[in-house]
Amino acid sequence: MTRRLEFGKADINYLANLCHNCGACLYACQYAPPHEFAVDVPRAMAKVRARTYADYAWPRALGALYARNGLTLSVATAAGLMLFLVLAVAMTGSLFHPPLAGNFYAVFPHNLMVSMFAPIFLFAVLALTLGVRRFWKDVAPGVVSGAAMTEATANALTLKYLDGGHGEGCNESDDEFTLWRRRFPSLHFLWVHALLRLDFA
Ligand code: SF4
Repeated sequence: MTRRLEFGKADINYLANLCHNCGACLYACQYAPPHEFAVDVPRAMAKVRARTYADYAWPRALGALYARNGLTLSVATAAGLMLFLVLAVAMTGSLFHPPLAGNFYAVFPHNLMVSMFAPIFLFAVLALTLGVRRFWKDVAPGVVSGAAMTEATANALTLKYLDGGHGEGCNESDDEFTLWRRRFPSLHFLWVHALLRLDFA
């Protein structure tokens, strides 16, 4: 930011997606609340980020759902649960069929699950890929070298920028440092790994 005098929409979108909401600038800025200017960069970046999710979404029409994220998620979860309850009744004749007590795959065979979730998974991968490509075309400054790509990938995998730059982590709401924002993605990864192992076992 210190090298530029002007910021176009693509620059702001790029900056907003680089921001990981650590809060450091909020505590460093003398004009942050309770100052009357109330400059809150993390909040502004979060708003722009949310807008980019909608703007670059594929298919475009589904991007509008980001505006009502909570409602969309709640309705989708309720609809998914209802679908499985209806399926359970249709396939076993009863919700309380004995296999429900112990053998999940006796009610929903493995191949049925794969035929339902594989297309959803592939759609998600396609939608994310096309969305990222659209975003990249807008913000990319030019050709990216292999070395830069390798460095960026290594930084992302090691969560380098979630250590606060000094190893103490990001700011908490009380201005203390915490490494929890770095630990949660790792826990999430372990959790998914454990679930996959359970499924294959
Ligand atoms: S310091 Fe942290 S919160 Fe502020 S813009 Fe950078 S990443 Fe975002």
